Amino acid sequence: MDTLENKDDLKKLVDTLNFKQKVDRAFALIEAAYKKYGNSMVVANSLGKDSVAVWDLAKRVNPKIRGFIITTRFKPKETKKFMNEEVKCYPELKVFKNDAEIPDQLYYTDPDKCCDILKVQPIRRAVQEMKVKCWVTGLRCTEGRTRTDFKEVEERDKGLIKLNPILIWKEREVWQYLALYEVKVNPLYKAGYRSLGCEPCTRITNEDNERAGRWIGTSKCGGECGIHTRSLINVNGDGI
Ligand code: SF4
Repeated sequence: MDTLENKDDLKKLVDTLNFKQKVDRAFALIEAAYKKYGNSMVVANSLGKDSVAVWDLAKRVNPKIRGFIITTRFKPKETKKFMNEEVKCYPELKVFKNDAEIPDQLYYTDPDKCCDILKVQPIRRAVQEMKVKCWVTGLRCTEGRTRTDFKEVEERDKGLIKLNPILIWKEREVWQYLALYEVKVNPLYKAGYRSLGCEPCTRITNEDNERAGRWIGTSKCGGECGIHTRSLINVNGDGI
């Protein structure tokens, strides 16, 4: 069966595959997608630990594979510096952001709207401008309550495939990969963060839920920015 059409029980694989088997599986998924979609397969790089692991895997599949970064005016200075270093090292990483004027402190008054304007709209532009048919993410099903129902290969938007090659990796296995393959990471992890986002919406926590430090004190607490839940194509008005 085609690697991209597997119907494996993912919850079982999280606990039964060992580290090497998971790395080989992720590599095979990216390789198969690149073979099928070529240059229209693009990696989404959020500059977090999961994304840089996927980016490293993709570069080993083929150094020509392109990527995009969605950034906002509210990213911490450490993330902005790390982004500039990554883009310098990999010019095939294209940066997208939205500089539109927004109400002051929209992240407190309406974080969904803030994420929609600053994150979802630029990713729609990235998908359109880079002519993406398959985008590759660092999503993992053990990351938190909002991430348990994804599949390794999805088509949430018709005509736009989403590949989640490290979906079944645990947090420990991501760090294992980054250490063993000597991948550079965002320095904010040294400060104790486990999930990185915009500065006003991200805190250091000791909760079990890896994403518990995101949007603390709002209805979005531990939730999603919308990149993985909103439609990325065929949107009237604010997108493409
Ligand atoms: S994470 Fe916070 S600051 Fe960043 S876009 Fe979303 S609401 Fe706005």
